[in-house]
Amino acid sequence: MTIIKREKIKHLEIILKVSERCNINCTYCYVFNMGNTLAADSAPIISLDNIAALRGFFERSVIENHIEVIQVDFHGGEPLMMKKERFNQMCEILREGNYGNSQLVLALQTNGILIDDEWIALFEKHQVHASISIDGPKHINDRHRLDRKGKSTYEGTVNGLRMLQNAWAKGRIPAEPGILSVANANANGGEIYHHFSKELKCQRFDFLIPDDQHADSTDAEGIGRFLNEALDAWFADGQPNIFVRIFNTYLGTMLNSQFNRIIGISANVESVYAFTVTSDGLLRIDDTLRSTSDKIFNPIGHVRELTLSSVLESTNAKEYSSLNSELPEDCNDCIWSKICHGGRLVNRFSPTNRFNNKTVFCPSMRVFLSRAASHLIEAGVSEETIIENIQQ
Ligand code: SF4
Repeated sequence: MTIIKREKIKHLEIILKVSERCNINCTYCYVFNMGNTLAADSAPIISLDNIAALRGFFERSVIENHIEVIQVDFHGGEPLMMKKERFNQMCEILREGNYGNSQLVLALQTNGILIDDEWIALFEKHQVHASISIDGPKHINDRHRLDRKGKSTYEGTVNGLRMLQNAWAKGRIPAEPGILSVANANANGGEIYHHFSKELKCQRFDFLIPDDQHADSTDAEGIGRFLNEALDAWFADGQPNIFVRIFNTYLGTMLNSQFNRIIGISANVESVYAFTVTSDGLLRIDDTLRSTSDKIFNPIGHVRELTLSSVLESTNAKEYSSLNSELPEDCNDCIWSKICHGGRLVNRFSPTNRFNNKTVFCPSMRVFLSRAASHLIEAGVSEETIIENIQQ
């Protein structure tokens, strides 16, 4: 029998909630501290049965579709709260799958505090890409990222980062560890940029826009200022080897409308899909939408029963896809609409209008995108090129 494969998919990413608990207590955490109890109500650690079920989902998916890369992001809570032996078994189950020509990438987002030599050995054995969550130097990081006793997490996190950097320098893990950091309206973005690039010697990082919604009191001006300070520092530094994802993505689009579109940031990202699988094996759409408690985050089904085509045909996935390609009404006349696209969905949400609002960070995006364009013009890019690319 000839199987006719459907859509060619470049990247299928699963945010896998391997631990629904955390060893620290960040004030802005969208999993635990934004009014949604889903994680606390779920199994603390994912079972190996659910891991095997996920492997089956991937194996069915690669029969239906050509998939270039399947990426599993071990996420939490704090994923390293899973016991090492279970983590090892989980990776073995996933690595043993038959995914045809698709490449399986294992990745991890961690606060780094629990990393020790045994963890490094496991990351080496299973070739896990690791990224660290930290918000800047100690006096800034510890404003929001304290442990359950209210103590600093900075030293523990930096220690974990150093261990990963050493392992990478020795060729033991597949990639340089990156940093994920939440933009902070009360901090100086330039200071954070220098801390990451000079003191922590990190060459790949990203500033996440906070998960605020319309019901929250948001300092959009402060976030715009933070991003511009970091952007100015990046340009002044002039180090092309330093990749700051949010900057590279938006500037890349201004230079080339098809550049490196990223799901969750860019509009109309084709052939790239990201879903969440919680510890109970239920698949849902974009993890950041859990804090909306909107019906769009309801489970699509259990990975034991789903196929990728049934996921893509589901009401939630279809609505998610159309929300990502439709502009909120407020944004119709905006010159930045093709690259900002109304902002991240979570930042557009209000209980009355759901996602038909511009982002609460609209003022931040306007000043940031204007500053980014002016840096490019100063660097010699013509205004016409930028205008042409942001209009496509
Ligand atoms: S900058 Fe503001 S108005 Fe323009 S697309 Fe973004 S959210 Fe909409």
